[in-house]
Amino acid sequence: VTREDQFTICCSACGKPAATIGFTPEAQLGLTLGRSGFLGSVSAAVLGREDITPELFSRVRNLAKDGDFAALAGIDRDFFGFICVRCTAPYCGDCWKDVYVTFDDGFYDETRGTCPQGHEQMLDD
Ligand SMILES: [Zn+2]
Ligand SMILES: [Zn+2]
Repeated sequence: VTREDQFTICCSACGKPAATIGFTPEAQLGLTLGRSGFLGSVSAAVLGREDITPELFSRVRNLAKDGDFAALAGIDRDFFGFICVRCTAPYCGDCWKDVYVTFDDGFYDETRGTCPQGHEQMLDD
């Protein structure tokens, strides 16, 4: 039996937690990766095109530890939306500015924002 495992990625601008990534190995629900602390909480069963596995979680955690945020954003642009792809740095919800939501035909489309260096990108969709 493996217990839930999690780690936090800190904001490169202010040092506060940007997001907490948690791996929940509950077989009956399927393996999921959760993200909290940034734009609410999300839970994913798939990252990019890969199913969540203990190996994928280890890879994600090692990339975060090594500070390879370009690689993390490359795995899943949506799940790692708090990483600015042009700075290749993570920022917390307080440091992303001008955050706004777009709608497509009345339905939620995506959330966009601007990083402390002035780069505008999709944060969530
Ligand atoms: Zn940036
Ligand atoms: Zn911050």
